Amino acid sequence: MEKADVVVVGAGFGGLAAALRLAELGADVVLCETLRYPGGCASTFTRSGYQFEAGATLFSGLGDGQLFSNWNDKWDLGVRFETLDPLVELRTGQWSLAVPPDPDAFVRRFAELPGANPEALRSFFATQRGVANALWKLFEDPALLPPLSATAVLRHLGRSLSYAPVVRWMGRPLSDVVSSHGLAGWEPLRVYLDAVSQITVQASSTEAEAPFAMAAVDYFFRGTGHVHGGIGSLAWALTEAIDRAGGRVSLANRVRSLRRESGAWQVDTRNGELRAQTVVANVLPQSLAGMAGPEVNGALPDVEAAVESGWGAAMLYLAIDADAVGGPDAKHLQLVDDQTAPFIEGNHVFCSISAADEHKRAPAGQRTTTISTHVPMQKLRNLEPEDQGVYIADIQNRMRETISRRAPELLAHAKFQMTASPRTFARFTGRHLGYVGGVPRRVGWKHYRPRALWPREAAPGLYLVGDSVLLGQSTLAVALGGVRTAEAIANA
Ligand SMILES: Cc1cc2nc3c(=O)[nH]c(=O)nc-3n(C[C@H](O)[C@H](O)[C@H](O)COP(=O)(O)OP(=O)(O)OC[C@H]3O[C@@H](n4cnc5c(N)ncnc54)[C@H](O)[C@@H]3O)c2cc1C
Repeated sequence: MEKADVVVVGAGFGGLAAALRLAELGADVVLCETLRYPGGCASTFTRSGYQFEAGATLFSGLGDGQLFSNWNDKWDLGVRFETLDPLVELRTGQWSLAVPPDPDAFVRRFAELPGANPEALRSFFATQRGVANALWKLFEDPALLPPLSATAVLRHLGRSLSYAPVVRWMGRPLSDVVSSHGLAGWEPLRVYLDAVSQITVQASSTEAEAPFAMAAVDYFFRGTGHVHGGIGSLAWALTEAIDRAGGRVSLANRVRSLRRESGAWQVDTRNGELRAQTVVANVLPQSLAGMAGPEVNGALPDVEAAVESGWGAAMLYLAIDADAVGGPDAKHLQLVDDQTAPFIEGNHVFCSISAADEHKRAPAGQRTTTISTHVPMQKLRNLEPEDQGVYIADIQNRMRETISRRAPELLAHAKFQMTASPRTFARFTGRHLGYVGGVPRRVGWKHYRPRALWPREAAPGLYLVGDSVLLGQSTLAVALGGVRTAEAIANA
């Protein structure tokens, strides 16, 4: 039987980051992944000669001094990060907004929309950025959350003034911040915030917990851009970094079960047994319970409930004629059909088109496109099995309608089409019933309980990472969460 200090289950970005940081800190780490390729929901897969991004397509943390950029330099990964202008184009029936990478230019452009109050808008985004800056400093430094040392406590005290705007909005929805700036009746801001909040904190602006939503509204301005070749190229590069740091990556190696024996974990994998002091599980808590049985049953009821209040995804993967897209860069479109209806179930879609020079992703003259929308899982689960397929097909048709109205160039020039559903995510990434995208950050004080902020241990030496626990919800957030957990394990 092979031995290791730590076994990491799952090479999504939560597991990749935890494994790399543990290896950097000198641990003997083995990362087991069930698929033949890394990245999970943020991977690039091949089908019929095309390379599609599976789910995630637009990434933060690529800027100088940020996590992925630091790793790219430190481990000489050679991954090309590309900044985009615009980062995203939001299109509704009434107006459109191309989001530039500079946040001040963004506010100026937003203020040009009909009916805007430029002063109030500037003041709203100043409040939002103050909260975002305070929180991102906290999120990006694993020493600060949880504050395990006297130095960390002192550093918090030194920053206490910057926390005041955060505290003011705790336990309140994002829409309260909008109202406090006299902007409640201005539809473009409500639509923009609903669209960004839905894809980040997984809730509309009236539902979203304000501090987390304000941090997430900064998503486009946190070293955000495109990964050349698809996000899979970064995931593969991180596996090489783990290797070079002294860790081991074992692909196509599903972990079947975990069992605690004589103070250590026995890990039963497709390729044999491993024994480790510590296990880091980059899976949803429901899957962990399935793997570890009575050891963890009912250990994380709050996380399980949060997952089950969340979303699945319906997907369209298209290959389109390259001439249908203006400009050579990768392109991201956020399309809203009816702005008065919820931004889910195909009424709101996020479309990402590969760059013209990503030659491996499509045959010459074509580009690949990944398109997603939110599926309310409770609604899906309440349907009879035979009606579930019909419901998903209806959503995919609604996605096509939205695209044909807001970005007709995509469907009119499609050379290849393929769909996916929550069932596809469940099958490929093992995600419980196909829940994806992280747990919704709906309004409430529960987000600040110590147990929600500390690395989550489901049983002695068994840690949970990924988008169901802090930091959650994006590729950068799960990677930062993985680093934080790795450091907590090393400290322990
Ligand atoms: C449609 C969609 C669009 C998104 N868009 C964006 C975006 O544009 N930008 C962004 O930053 N984020 C985006 N996200 C969110 C982002 O993809 C996720 O937050 C993040 O990738 C989750 O990573 P994770 O490590 O928590 O989990 P996962 O990616 O699910 O990784 C878990 C891994 O564990 C493996 N695994 C499961 N069971 C086992 C087992 N028994 N043994 C071994 N391995 C196992 C799986 O195969 C998988 O590789 C999007 C998500 C979706 C679904």
